[in-house]
Amino acid sequence: MSDVLVVSEHRRGGLRDVSYEAITAGRELADAQGGDLHVAAISGDIDQFADDLNREGVDAVHAVSNGEEFDHNVYQSAVGALLEQTDAGTVVIPNSVNGLDYAPAVAEAHGLPLVTDAIGFAYDDGLTVTREMYGSKVETTVDVDGDRHVLTVRGGEWAPAEGVGDAPVESLEVDHPESGARVTGFEEVGGGDVDIADADVLVSVGRGIEDEENLELVEELADALGATLSASRPIVDNGWLPKNRQVGQSGKVVTPDVYIAVGISGAVQHVAGMKGSDTIVAINTDPNAPIFDIADYGIVGDLFDVVPELIDEFA
Ligand SMILES: Cc1cc2nc3c(=O)[nH]c(=O)nc-3n(C[C@H](O)[C@H](O)[C@H](O)COP(=O)(O)OP(=O)(O)OC[C@H]3O[C@@H](n4cnc5c(N)ncnc54)[C@H](O)[C@@H]3O)c2cc1C
Repeated sequence: MSDVLVVSEHRRGGLRDVSYEAITAGRELADAQGGDLHVAAISGDIDQFADDLNREGVDAVHAVSNGEEFDHNVYQSAVGALLEQTDAGTVVIPNSVNGLDYAPAVAEAHGLPLVTDAIGFAYDDGLTVTREMYGSKVETTVDVDGDRHVLTVRGGEWAPAEGVGDAPVESLEVDHPESGARVTGFEEVGGGDVDIADADVLVSVGRGIEDEENLELVEELADALGATLSASRPIVDNGWLPKNRQVGQSGKVVTPDVYIAVGISGAVQHVAGMKGSDTIVAINTDPNAPIFDIADYGIVGDLFDVVPELIDEFA
């Protein structure tokens, strides 16, 4: 029997959705292992975070009050301290830039196996983790020895934990080595404050748009729907939209309620970033475009005819 420790993630004052998804993944593991689920909020507004993370199924919340922003040394030390203070043997960490910064260090320091980018678990005699490889073309399973491990979980693969829990909140301050790096501020990489991962509705544009000046058309559709504009990689590579708008393997993973793919073929690297969307609508002239394999609604047609009609309908 081994308890599970989920480490939440926050950025610029807010918990990221993947924190709640990791709680669901952690609960699944705790049930399979017959253990309790601990959740940690490390640095930032820990009182608020501890409150928000106290969802149904959580057995204990740990609030670690060191610092405001992400700090490798604080996270590594805090997770280490929690591993010692609790019966947790499994650590679940978001598979994010921050998570991938400290998860290997935690695994190394505690002699635990590390499996990154998990998209599913099966538990029989031991844990089997499902991962994707080769740009999501292949699914693999990894059998993990023992019942103590560090796992990073991909965003958008588990439903966010819901409900209000009543787990006790325990405060903790950790000793940690002085950091060689500190956060001095944030600078957005073009495109302002937009985080496409937070959008409920995305209108996503691909190479079918042909020319930068035609982007106006999809912007108009996004406005009419109250949606956020995102894009496939070629649009970003062309410099027509900033990098923070890119969906996909080398962009962002998004899970909106509605994803409208306009002139996007549905390459595996793109699909890897949006297949978790609730409802997918695709507009494409090619009836054999792979995007139609995952679309809930497909319109085979020229976007320059279809999009103006949609704008008329919704504006
Ligand atoms: C390591 C690696 C990482 C990558 N990461 C990403 C990533 O993060 N995100 C990403 O998106 N890509 C990524 N790619 C690129 C990916 O492989 C594809 O090249 C890219 O997704 C294709 O973009 P697209 O669908 O816009 O363009 P295309 O594949 O060229 O598709 C354009 C589509 O528009 C349709 N079309 C054309 N004209 C019209 C019209 N008038 N009306 C309607 N439809 C029309 C066409 O039928 C076609 O299906 C990556 C590639 C590699 C190798």
